[in-house]
Amino acid sequence: MIAIIGGGLAGLSLSYFLENSKIKAEIFEAEKRLGGLMKSEVIDGFTFDSGGSHIIFSNNGKILREMIEITGNVVMHLRRTYIYYEGKYVKYPFENGIYMLPESERFKILWDFVENLIKKERKPPENLLEWFYAVFGKEITERYLKPYNEKLWGRDLADISLEWVKNRVPNPPIVDILKSCVGIPTEGYKHQLRFYYPLKGGIETLIRRLNDNINAKINLSQKVKRIESDEDRVIIKTKKVEKEYEFVISTAPLHEIALAFDDSKEIRREANKLEVNSLTVVGLGIKGEIPDFHWIYVPNKEIIFHRLAFLSNYSPFMSPEGYASVIAEISHKADEKIRDPIEKVIDGLYEMGFDFDVVVDKSWEWKYAYVVYDHKCSKAVKKLKDFLIERKVIPHGRFGGWDYLNMDGVWEKSKKLAEVIKRVQDTNERIARRSGSKDRGESGNRCKDEEDIVIKIIRAKDLP
Ligand SMILES: Cc1cc2nc3c(=O)[nH]c(=O)nc-3n(C[C@H](O)[C@H](O)[C@H](O)COP(=O)(O)OP(=O)(O)OC[C@H]3O[C@@H](n4cnc5c(N)ncnc54)[C@H](O)[C@@H]3O)c2cc1C
Repeated sequence: MIAIIGGGLAGLSLSYFLENSKIKAEIFEAEKRLGGLMKSEVIDGFTFDSGGSHIIFSNNGKILREMIEITGNVVMHLRRTYIYYEGKYVKYPFENGIYMLPESERFKILWDFVENLIKKERKPPENLLEWFYAVFGKEITERYLKPYNEKLWGRDLADISLEWVKNRVPNPPIVDILKSCVGIPTEGYKHQLRFYYPLKGGIETLIRRLNDNINAKINLSQKVKRIESDEDRVIIKTKKVEKEYEFVISTAPLHEIALAFDDSKEIRREANKLEVNSLTVVGLGIKGEIPDFHWIYVPNKEIIFHRLAFLSNYSPFMSPEGYASVIAEISHKADEKIRDPIEKVIDGLYEMGFDFDVVVDKSWEWKYAYVVYDHKCSKAVKKLKDFLIERKVIPHGRFGGWDYLNMDGVWEKSKKLAEVIKRVQDTNERIARRSGSKDRGESGNRCKDEEDIVIKIIRAKDLP
Protein backbone atom coordinates (compact mmCIF):
# COMPACT_ATOMS: atom_id res chain seq x y z
CA MET A 1 0.00 0.00 0.00
CA ILE A 2 1.28 3.47 -0.84
CA ALA A 3 0.04 6.90 0.22
CA ILE A 4 -0.38 9.89 -2.07
CA ILE A 5 -0.29 13.28 -0.36
CA GLY A 6 -2.48 15.79 -2.20
CA GLY A 7 -5.64 15.35 -4.24
CA GLY A 8 -4.91 17.86 -7.01
CA LEU A 9 -4.24 16.87 -10.60
CA ALA A 10 -0.88 15.27 -9.75
CA GLY A 11 -2.24 13.04 -6.98
CA LEU A 12 -5.40 12.03 -8.85
CA SER A 13 -3.76 11.42 -12.22
CA LEU A 14 -1.09 9.27 -10.58
CA SER A 15 -3.79 7.27 -8.83
CA TYR A 16 -5.65 6.97 -12.15
CA PHE A 17 -2.58 5.55 -13.88
CA LEU A 18 -2.06 3.09 -11.03
CA GLU A 19 -5.59 1.70 -11.46
CA ASN A 20 -5.78 -1.93 -12.52
CA SER A 21 -2.35 -2.62 -11.07
CA LYS A 22 -1.38 -4.50 -7.96
CA ILE A 23 -0.49 -1.25 -6.26
CA LYS A 24 -3.11 0.05 -3.91
CA ALA A 25 -3.02 3.75 -3.12
CA GLU A 26 -4.67 5.93 -0.49
CA ILE A 27 -4.96 9.71 -0.99
CA PHE A 28 -4.71 12.34 1.75
CA GLU A 29 -6.04 15.77 0.85
CA ALA A 30 -5.81 18.74 3.22
CA GLU A 31 -8.87 20.54 1.83
CA LYS A 32 -12.56 19.63 1.99
CA ARG A 33 -12.60 19.16 -1.78
CA LEU A 34 -10.33 17.55 -4.35
CA GLY A 35 -8.80 19.49 -7.25
CA GLY A 36 -6.09 21.75 -5.82
CA LEU A 37 -5.77 24.72 -8.18
CA MET A 38 -8.26 23.15 -10.58
CA LYS A 39 -11.42 23.90 -8.64
CA SER A 40 -14.56 25.47 -10.08
CA GLU A 41 -17.35 27.03 -8.08
CA VAL A 42 -20.94 27.70 -9.10
CA ILE A 43 -22.59 30.81 -7.61
CA ASP A 44 -26.15 31.71 -8.65
CA GLY A 45 -25.71 29.95 -12.00
CA PHE A 46 -22.26 31.46 -12.72
CA THR A 47 -19.33 29.01 -12.90
CA PHE A 48 -15.90 30.35 -11.95
CA ASP A 49 -12.54 28.59 -12.09
CA SER A 50 -11.52 29.76 -8.65
CA GLY A 51 -7.81 28.84 -9.13
CA GLY A 52 -7.51 31.06 -12.20
CA SER A 53 -8.14 30.48 -15.90
CA HIS A 54 -7.25 26.92 -16.91
CA ILE A 55 -7.37 25.62 -20.49
CA ILE A 56 -6.44 22.19 -21.81
CA PHE A 57 -3.59 22.31 -24.31
CA SER A 58 -0.38 20.46 -25.09
CA ASN A 59 2.15 20.02 -27.85
CA ASN A 60 2.09 16.32 -27.02
CA GLY A 61 -0.84 14.99 -29.07
CA LYS A 62 -1.14 11.74 -27.12
CA ILE A 63 -1.27 13.43 -23.72
CA LEU A 64 -3.74 16.00 -25.07
CA ARG A 65 -6.04 13.26 -26.40
CA GLU A 66 -5.91 11.40 -23.07
CA MET A 67 -6.81 14.51 -21.08
CA ILE A 68 -9.69 15.31 -23.45
CA GLU A 69 -10.97 11.76 -23.43
CA ILE A 70 -11.19 11.61 -19.64
CA THR A 71 -12.77 15.11 -19.48
CA GLY A 72 -15.65 14.05 -21.77
CA ASN A 73 -17.45 16.75 -23.77
CA VAL A 74 -15.16 19.65 -24.53
CA VAL A 75 -15.30 22.80 -26.65
CA MET A 76 -12.41 23.47 -29.00
CA HIS A 77 -11.20 27.04 -29.52
CA LEU A 78 -8.70 28.97 -31.56
CA ARG A 79 -7.13 31.34 -29.06
CA ARG A 80 -8.45 34.94 -29.15
CA THR A 81 -6.06 36.52 -26.70
CA TYR A 82 -4.92 40.12 -26.42
CA ILE A 83 -2.59 42.41 -24.52
CA TYR A 84 -3.89 45.67 -23.12
CA TYR A 85 -1.23 47.99 -24.45
CA GLU A 86 -1.42 51.78 -24.19
CA GLY A 87 -5.21 51.79 -24.21
CA LYS A 88 -5.45 49.44 -27.20
CA TYR A 89 -5.75 45.68 -27.62
CA VAL A 90 -2.77 44.10 -29.34
CA LYS A 91 -2.86 40.44 -30.30
CA TYR A 92 -0.93 38.05 -28.05
CA PRO A 93 1.97 37.19 -28.09
CA PHE A 94 3.18 40.79 -28.36
CA GLU A 95 5.90 40.00 -30.90
CA ASN A 96 3.23 38.57 -33.20
CA GLY A 97 0.79 41.41 -32.53
CA ILE A 98 3.19 44.20 -33.57
CA TYR A 99 1.38 44.34 -36.92
CA MET A 100 -1.52 46.06 -35.12
CA LEU A 101 0.64 49.03 -34.02
CA PRO A 102 1.05 52.28 -36.00
CA GLU A 103 3.69 52.24 -38.75
CA SER A 104 6.15 54.50 -36.91
CA GLU A 105 6.14 52.21 -33.83
CA ARG A 106 6.52 49.13 -35.99
CA PHE A 107 9.58 50.66 -37.63
CA LYS A 108 11.17 51.51 -34.26
CA ILE A 109 10.68 47.92 -33.09
CA LEU A 110 11.96 46.51 -36.39
CA TRP A 111 15.08 48.66 -36.33
CA ASP A 112 15.87 47.70 -32.76
CA PHE A 113 15.19 44.01 -33.41
CA VAL A 114 17.50 43.95 -36.47
CA GLU A 115 20.22 45.90 -34.66
CA ASN A 116 20.05 43.38 -31.83
CA LEU A 117 20.25 40.47 -34.28
CA ILE A 118 23.38 41.71 -36.02
CA LYS A 119 25.14 42.81 -32.84
CA LYS A 120 28.70 41.45 -32.90
CA GLU A 121 29.44 41.25 -29.20
CA ARG A 122 27.12 38.99 -27.33
CA LYS A 123 27.38 37.75 -23.82
CA PRO A 124 25.17 34.73 -23.07
CA PRO A 125 22.17 35.75 -20.93
CA GLU A 126 22.35 34.75 -17.27
CA ASN A 127 18.88 35.65 -16.08
CA LEU A 128 15.36 36.17 -17.40
CA LEU A 129 15.80 39.88 -18.05
CA GLU A 130 19.02 39.39 -20.01
CA TRP A 131 17.34 36.59 -21.97
CA PHE A 132 14.47 38.91 -22.99
CA TYR A 133 16.91 41.58 -24.17
CA ALA A 134 19.06 39.02 -26.01
CA VAL A 135 16.20 37.30 -27.84
CA PHE A 136 13.67 40.09 -28.39
CA GLY A 137 15.71 43.31 -28.23
CA LYS A 138 15.07 46.42 -26.17
CA GLU A 139 11.81 47.62 -27.73
CA ILE A 140 9.75 44.42 -27.35
CA THR A 141 11.26 43.80 -23.90
CA GLU A 142 10.53 47.25 -22.51
CA ARG A 143 7.13 47.70 -24.12
CA TYR A 144 5.66 44.40 -22.92
CA LEU A 145 7.83 41.54 -21.66
CA LYS A 146 9.50 43.41 -18.83
CA PRO A 147 6.46 45.22 -17.37
CA TYR A 148 4.20 42.18 -17.70
CA ASN A 149 6.66 39.74 -16.16
CA GLU A 150 7.62 42.16 -13.39
CA LYS A 151 3.96 42.35 -12.52
CA LEU A 152 3.51 38.57 -12.66
CA TRP A 153 6.65 37.73 -10.66
CA GLY A 154 6.55 40.79 -8.37
CA ARG A 155 10.35 41.01 -8.41
CA ASP A 156 13.33 42.13 -10.43
CA LEU A 157 13.59 39.85 -13.49
CA ALA A 158 17.37 39.73 -13.04
CA ASP A 159 16.60 37.59 -9.97
CA ILE A 160 14.78 34.96 -12.03
CA SER A 161 17.08 32.23 -13.30
CA LEU A 162 17.14 30.86 -16.83
CA GLU A 163 15.78 27.55 -15.59
CA TRP A 164 12.29 28.97 -15.96
CA VAL A 165 12.86 29.65 -19.66
CA LYS A 166 14.28 26.21 -20.43
CA ASN A 167 11.76 24.04 -22.32
CA ARG A 168 9.05 26.51 -21.45
CA VAL A 169 9.35 29.66 -23.50
CA PRO A 170 10.22 28.86 -27.11
CA ASN A 171 12.46 31.26 -29.04
CA PRO A 172 10.15 33.04 -31.49
CA PRO A 173 10.83 32.47 -35.21
CA ILE A 174 12.72 35.58 -36.40
CA VAL A 175 10.72 35.61 -39.64
CA ASP A 176 7.46 35.98 -37.68
CA ILE A 177 8.73 39.06 -35.85
CA LEU A 178 9.97 40.62 -39.09
CA LYS A 179 6.63 39.91 -40.78
CA SER A 180 4.74 41.38 -37.85
CA CYS A 181 6.92 44.51 -37.95
CA VAL A 182 6.07 45.12 -41.59
CA GLY A 183 2.35 44.63 -40.92
CA ILE A 184 1.77 40.95 -41.76
CA PRO A 185 -0.27 39.02 -39.14
CA THR A 186 1.35 35.86 -37.73
CA GLU A 187 0.62 33.50 -34.84
CA GLY A 188 2.98 32.61 -31.98
CA TYR A 189 3.07 29.86 -29.32
CA LYS A 190 1.35 27.48 -31.72
CA HIS A 191 1.07 24.66 -29.15
CA GLN A 192 -1.45 26.82 -27.28
CA LEU A 193 -3.17 28.32 -30.32
CA ARG A 194 -5.82 25.61 -30.25
CA PHE A 195 -7.19 24.79 -26.83
CA TYR A 196 -9.97 22.76 -25.25
CA TYR A 197 -12.28 23.41 -22.35
CA PRO A 198 -14.95 21.29 -20.63
CA LEU A 199 -18.40 21.96 -22.08
CA LYS A 200 -19.92 22.01 -18.60
CA GLY A 201 -18.72 22.43 -15.03
CA GLY A 202 -15.54 24.47 -15.57
CA ILE A 203 -12.04 23.00 -15.37
CA GLU A 204 -12.94 20.95 -12.28
CA THR A 205 -14.80 18.59 -14.63
CA LEU A 206 -11.45 17.00 -15.46
CA ILE A 207 -10.83 16.40 -11.75
CA ARG A 208 -14.33 14.98 -11.19
CA ARG A 209 -14.01 12.62 -14.13
CA LEU A 210 -10.63 11.42 -12.85
CA ASN A 211 -12.16 10.82 -9.44
CA ASP A 212 -14.98 8.80 -11.08
CA ASN A 213 -12.33 6.54 -12.57
CA ILE A 214 -10.27 5.71 -9.51
CA ASN A 215 -10.87 3.34 -6.65
CA ALA A 216 -8.24 4.70 -4.26
CA LYS A 217 -9.48 5.51 -0.78
CA ILE A 218 -9.68 9.29 -0.46
CA ASN A 219 -9.31 11.06 2.88
CA LEU A 220 -10.52 14.66 2.67
CA SER A 221 -9.76 17.40 5.22
CA GLN A 222 -6.68 15.43 6.30
CA LYS A 223 -3.57 17.52 6.08
CA VAL A 224 -0.39 15.48 6.51
CA LYS A 225 1.37 17.18 9.39
CA ARG A 226 4.13 14.76 10.41
CA ILE A 227 6.05 12.04 8.60
CA GLU A 228 8.48 9.47 9.96
CA SER A 229 10.24 6.64 8.22
CA ASP A 230 12.51 3.70 8.85
CA GLU A 231 13.94 0.86 6.74
CA ASP A 232 10.55 -0.75 6.16
CA ARG A 233 7.85 1.88 6.18
CA VAL A 234 6.78 5.48 6.13
CA ILE A 235 4.39 6.68 8.81
CA ILE A 236 2.20 9.63 8.02
CA LYS A 237 0.24 11.52 10.62
CA THR A 238 -2.77 13.78 10.19
CA LYS A 239 -4.93 15.23 12.96
CA LYS A 240 -7.15 12.17 12.75
CA VAL A 241 -4.97 9.20 11.80
CA GLU A 242 -1.52 7.70 11.94
CA LYS A 243 -0.86 5.09 9.24
CA GLU A 244 2.07 3.31 7.69
CA TYR A 245 2.88 2.68 4.03
CA GLU A 246 5.53 1.05 1.87
CA PHE A 247 6.35 4.45 0.44
CA VAL A 248 4.74 7.80 -0.20
CA ILE A 249 4.30 10.08 -3.20
CA SER A 250 3.96 13.69 -2.14
CA THR A 251 2.40 16.41 -4.28
CA ALA A 252 2.28 18.82 -1.32
CA PRO A 253 4.79 21.71 -1.35
CA LEU A 254 8.30 20.25 -1.27
CA HIS A 255 9.65 22.29 1.64
CA GLU A 256 6.52 21.80 3.77
CA ILE A 257 6.81 18.03 3.48
CA ALA A 258 10.53 18.10 4.24
CA LEU A 259 9.73 20.11 7.37
CA ALA A 260 6.98 17.65 8.28
CA PHE A 261 9.81 15.12 8.53
CA ASP A 262 12.40 17.20 10.22
CA ASP A 263 12.27 20.84 11.26
CA SER A 264 15.96 20.96 12.09
CA LYS A 265 17.97 24.11 11.41
CA GLU A 266 19.52 22.58 8.32
CA ILE A 267 16.22 21.65 6.62
CA ARG A 268 14.71 24.97 7.64
CA ARG A 269 17.64 26.80 6.05
CA GLU A 270 17.07 25.01 2.71
CA ALA A 271 13.28 25.34 2.97
CA ASN A 272 13.61 29.11 3.45
CA LYS A 273 15.33 29.36 0.07
CA LEU A 274 12.17 28.29 -1.75
CA GLU A 275 9.83 31.10 -2.75
CA VAL A 276 6.39 31.09 -4.31
CA ASN A 277 4.09 33.67 -5.75
CA SER A 278 0.54 33.69 -4.52
CA LEU A 279 -2.64 34.46 -6.40
CA THR A 280 -5.88 36.23 -5.64
CA VAL A 281 -8.68 35.44 -8.07
CA VAL A 282 -11.78 37.64 -8.37
CA GLY A 283 -14.87 36.19 -10.04
CA LEU A 284 -17.55 38.51 -11.41
CA GLY A 285 -20.99 37.56 -12.71
CA ILE A 286 -21.91 40.18 -15.29
CA LYS A 287 -25.22 41.14 -16.87
CA GLY A 288 -24.94 41.90 -20.57
CA GLU A 289 -22.27 41.62 -23.24
CA ILE A 290 -18.56 40.95 -22.85
CA PRO A 291 -15.85 41.39 -25.51
CA ASP A 292 -15.24 38.47 -27.84
CA PHE A 293 -11.86 37.63 -26.25
CA HIS A 294 -10.74 34.59 -24.30
CA TRP A 295 -8.37 36.47 -22.06
CA ILE A 296 -6.37 39.70 -21.86
CA TYR A 297 -2.87 40.21 -20.42
CA VAL A 298 -2.57 43.47 -18.53
CA PRO A 299 1.01 44.72 -18.01
CA ASN A 300 -0.07 48.14 -16.71
CA LYS A 301 1.10 48.86 -13.17
CA GLU A 302 -1.90 50.98 -12.20
CA ILE A 303 -4.32 48.08 -12.84
CA ILE A 304 -4.24 45.48 -10.07
CA PHE A 305 -4.78 42.31 -12.09
CA HIS A 306 -2.35 40.87 -14.61
CA ARG A 307 -4.88 38.78 -16.51
CA LEU A 308 -8.59 38.97 -17.23
CA ALA A 309 -10.37 35.86 -18.50
CA PHE A 310 -13.83 35.78 -20.10
CA LEU A 311 -14.90 32.27 -19.08
CA SER A 312 -18.29 32.50 -20.80
CA ASN A 313 -16.37 32.64 -24.08
CA TYR A 314 -14.74 29.28 -23.17
CA SER A 315 -18.16 27.61 -22.88
CA PRO A 316 -21.69 29.07 -23.05
CA PHE A 317 -22.62 26.92 -20.03
CA MET A 318 -20.48 29.01 -17.68
CA SER A 319 -23.29 31.53 -17.03
CA PRO A 320 -27.03 32.01 -17.51
CA GLU A 321 -28.14 33.34 -20.91
CA GLY A 322 -27.61 37.08 -21.23
CA TYR A 323 -24.94 37.02 -18.48
CA ALA A 324 -21.23 36.27 -18.36
CA SER A 325 -18.61 34.85 -15.97
CA VAL A 326 -15.35 36.73 -15.84
CA ILE A 327 -12.28 36.21 -13.62
CA ALA A 328 -9.37 38.53 -12.87
CA GLU A 329 -6.06 37.14 -11.57
CA ILE A 330 -3.82 39.11 -9.21
CA SER A 331 -0.34 37.65 -8.69
CA HIS A 332 1.50 38.76 -5.55
CA LYS A 333 4.18 37.81 -3.09
CA ALA A 334 3.29 35.11 -0.58
CA ASP A 335 3.45 37.47 2.40
CA GLU A 336 1.32 40.16 0.72
CA LYS A 337 -2.41 40.40 1.38
CA ILE A 338 -4.57 42.08 -1.26
CA ARG A 339 -7.13 44.24 0.50
CA ASP A 340 -10.53 44.84 -1.16
CA PRO A 341 -9.63 42.83 -4.28
CA ILE A 342 -13.15 43.00 -5.74
CA GLU A 343 -13.33 46.83 -5.57
CA LYS A 344 -9.81 47.10 -7.00
CA VAL A 345 -10.62 44.78 -9.88
CA ILE A 346 -13.76 46.77 -10.71
CA ASP A 347 -11.64 49.98 -10.65
CA GLY A 348 -9.19 48.33 -13.05
CA LEU A 349 -12.01 47.34 -15.38
CA TYR A 350 -13.20 50.99 -15.48
CA GLU A 351 -9.66 52.03 -16.28
CA MET A 352 -9.74 49.63 -19.25
CA GLY A 353 -13.06 51.08 -20.38
CA PHE A 354 -15.34 48.24 -19.17
CA ASP A 355 -18.41 49.48 -17.34
CA PHE A 356 -19.87 46.07 -16.46
CA ASP A 357 -23.11 45.53 -14.56
CA VAL A 358 -21.78 43.19 -11.83
CA VAL A 359 -24.46 40.98 -10.24
CA VAL A 360 -22.26 38.40 -8.45
CA ASP A 361 -18.76 38.69 -6.98
CA LYS A 362 -16.37 36.56 -4.96
CA SER A 363 -12.63 36.31 -4.39
CA TRP A 364 -10.34 33.37 -3.64
CA GLU A 365 -6.79 33.30 -2.29
CA TRP A 366 -4.11 30.78 -3.21
CA LYS A 367 -0.87 30.71 -1.31
CA TYR A 368 0.75 28.38 -3.86
CA ALA A 369 0.36 29.53 -7.46
CA TYR A 370 3.80 29.92 -9.09
CA VAL A 371 7.12 28.46 -8.00
CA VAL A 372 9.76 31.17 -8.25
CA TYR A 373 12.93 30.15 -10.07
CA ASP A 374 15.43 32.47 -8.46
CA HIS A 375 19.15 31.78 -8.41
CA LYS A 376 19.20 30.23 -4.95
CA CYS A 377 16.40 27.72 -5.40
CA SER A 378 17.82 24.94 -7.58
CA LYS A 379 20.46 23.68 -5.12
CA ALA A 380 17.94 23.83 -2.26
CA VAL A 381 15.34 21.97 -4.36
CA LYS A 382 17.83 19.20 -5.08
CA LYS A 383 18.84 18.89 -1.43
CA LEU A 384 15.23 18.72 -0.24
CA LYS A 385 14.28 16.20 -2.92
CA ASP A 386 17.26 13.97 -2.07
CA PHE A 387 16.39 14.24 1.61
CA LEU A 388 12.82 13.04 0.95
CA ILE A 389 13.72 10.33 -1.54
CA GLU A 390 16.18 8.82 0.93
CA ARG A 391 13.27 8.58 3.33
CA LYS A 392 10.97 6.87 0.79
CA VAL A 393 8.94 9.95 -0.10
CA ILE A 394 8.84 10.74 -3.84
CA PRO A 395 8.16 14.40 -4.64
CA HIS A 396 5.76 14.90 -7.56
CA GLY A 397 3.61 17.63 -9.17
CA ARG A 398 3.90 21.39 -9.49
CA PHE A 399 4.79 22.21 -5.88
CA GLY A 400 5.88 18.72 -4.79
CA GLY A 401 8.45 18.58 -7.59
CA TRP A 402 9.00 22.36 -7.48
CA ASP A 403 8.54 22.59 -11.21
CA TYR A 404 6.57 25.08 -13.32
CA LEU A 405 4.34 22.33 -14.71
CA ASN A 406 1.17 22.85 -16.67
CA MET A 407 -1.53 20.20 -16.63
CA ASP A 408 0.00 18.28 -19.53
CA GLY A 409 3.39 18.19 -17.77
CA VAL A 410 1.77 16.89 -14.59
CA TRP A 411 -0.19 14.31 -16.58
CA GLU A 412 2.88 13.07 -18.41
CA LYS A 413 4.94 12.81 -15.22
CA SER A 414 2.14 10.95 -13.42
CA LYS A 415 1.90 8.49 -16.28
CA LYS A 416 5.63 7.92 -16.30
CA LEU A 417 5.85 7.59 -12.53
CA ALA A 418 2.95 5.09 -12.43
CA GLU A 419 4.60 2.98 -15.15
CA VAL A 420 7.84 3.01 -13.21
CA ILE A 421 6.16 2.06 -9.94
CA LYS A 422 4.31 -0.81 -11.63
CA ARG A 423 7.37 -2.07 -13.46
CA VAL A 424 9.53 -1.85 -10.39
CA GLN A 425 6.92 -3.60 -8.29
CA ASP A 426 6.92 -6.46 -10.82
CA THR A 427 10.71 -6.53 -10.90
CA ASN A 428 10.94 -6.60 -7.15
CA GLU A 429 8.40 -9.39 -6.89
CA ARG A 430 10.51 -11.35 -9.34
CA ILE A 431 13.61 -10.49 -7.37
CA ALA A 432 11.95 -11.54 -4.15
CA ARG A 433 11.05 -14.89 -5.74
CA ARG A 434 14.55 -15.48 -7.01
CA SER A 435 16.35 -13.64 -4.27
CA GLY A 436 20.00 -13.08 -4.95
CA SER A 437 19.61 -13.80 -8.71
CA LYS A 438 21.21 -11.88 -11.59
CA ASP A 439 17.97 -9.90 -12.04
CA ARG A 440 19.06 -7.41 -9.46
CA GLY A 441 21.97 -6.14 -11.51
CA GLU A 442 20.06 -6.09 -14.79
CA SER A 443 17.17 -4.03 -13.54
CA GLY A 444 19.52 -1.67 -11.71
CA ASN A 445 21.31 -0.84 -14.94
CA ARG A 446 18.11 -0.01 -16.74
CA CYS A 447 16.85 2.50 -14.16
CA LYS A 448 16.74 6.22 -14.69
CA ASP A 449 15.15 9.21 -12.93
CA GLU A 450 12.04 8.16 -11.05
CA GLU A 451 12.75 4.51 -11.79
CA ASP A 452 15.94 4.84 -9.82
CA ILE A 453 14.09 6.42 -6.97
CA VAL A 454 11.45 3.76 -6.73
CA ILE A 455 13.86 0.89 -7.15
CA LYS A 456 15.95 2.35 -4.36
CA ILE A 457 12.95 2.61 -2.12
CA ILE A 458 11.58 -0.80 -2.86
CA ARG A 459 15.01 -2.41 -2.75
CA ALA A 460 15.72 -0.94 0.64
CA LYS A 461 12.71 -2.81 1.87
CA ASP A 462 12.57 -5.91 -0.28
CA LEU A 463 16.11 -7.03 -0.90
CA PRO A 464 18.16 -9.11 1.48
C1 LIG B 1 -3.28 30.90 -12.37
C2 LIG B 1 -2.93 29.57 -12.96
C3 LIG B 1 -3.40 29.24 -14.22
C4 LIG B 1 -3.05 28.02 -14.79
N1 LIG B 1 -3.53 27.73 -16.04
C5 LIG B 1 -3.22 26.57 -16.63
C6 LIG B 1 -3.71 26.28 -17.93
O1 LIG B 1 -4.41 27.08 -18.54
N2 LIG B 1 -3.39 25.08 -18.48
C7 LIG B 1 -2.58 24.18 -17.83
O2 LIG B 1 -2.30 23.12 -18.40
N3 LIG B 1 -2.10 24.43 -16.58
C8 LIG B 1 -2.40 25.60 -15.98
N4 LIG B 1 -1.94 25.87 -14.70
C9 LIG B 1 -1.14 24.84 -14.00
C10 LIG B 1 -2.02 23.82 -13.25
O3 LIG B 1 -2.81 24.49 -12.31
C11 LIG B 1 -1.11 22.82 -12.51
O4 LIG B 1 -0.27 22.16 -13.42
C12 LIG B 1 -1.86 21.73 -11.72
O5 LIG B 1 -3.04 22.20 -11.15
C13 LIG B 1 -0.90 21.24 -10.63
O6 LIG B 1 -1.48 20.18 -9.91
P1 LIG B 1 -0.79 19.61 -8.59
O7 LIG B 1 -1.63 18.49 -8.15
O8 LIG B 1 0.65 19.40 -8.84
O9 LIG B 1 -0.85 20.82 -7.53
P2 LIG B 1 -2.13 21.45 -6.66
O10 LIG B 1 -3.21 21.73 -7.61
O11 LIG B 1 -1.53 22.53 -5.91
O12 LIG B 1 -2.52 20.23 -5.74
C14 LIG B 1 -1.83 19.91 -4.56
C15 LIG B 1 -2.83 19.40 -3.54
O13 LIG B 1 -2.13 19.01 -2.36
C16 LIG B 1 -2.88 19.40 -1.23
N5 LIG B 1 -1.97 19.48 -0.07
C17 LIG B 1 -1.00 20.39 0.15
N6 LIG B 1 -0.36 20.14 1.32
C18 LIG B 1 -0.92 19.03 1.83
C19 LIG B 1 -0.68 18.24 3.00
N7 LIG B 1 0.28 18.55 3.88
N8 LIG B 1 -1.48 17.16 3.22
C20 LIG B 1 -2.45 16.81 2.34
N9 LIG B 1 -2.71 17.51 1.21
C21 LIG B 1 -1.95 18.61 0.95
C22 LIG B 1 -3.47 20.73 -1.64
O14 LIG B 1 -4.59 21.07 -0.86
C23 LIG B 1 -3.83 20.46 -3.11
O15 LIG B 1 -5.13 19.96 -3.25
C24 LIG B 1 -2.23 27.09 -14.09
C25 LIG B 1 -1.77 27.41 -12.81
C26 LIG B 1 -2.11 28.65 -12.26
C27 LIG B 1 -1.60 29.01 -10.90
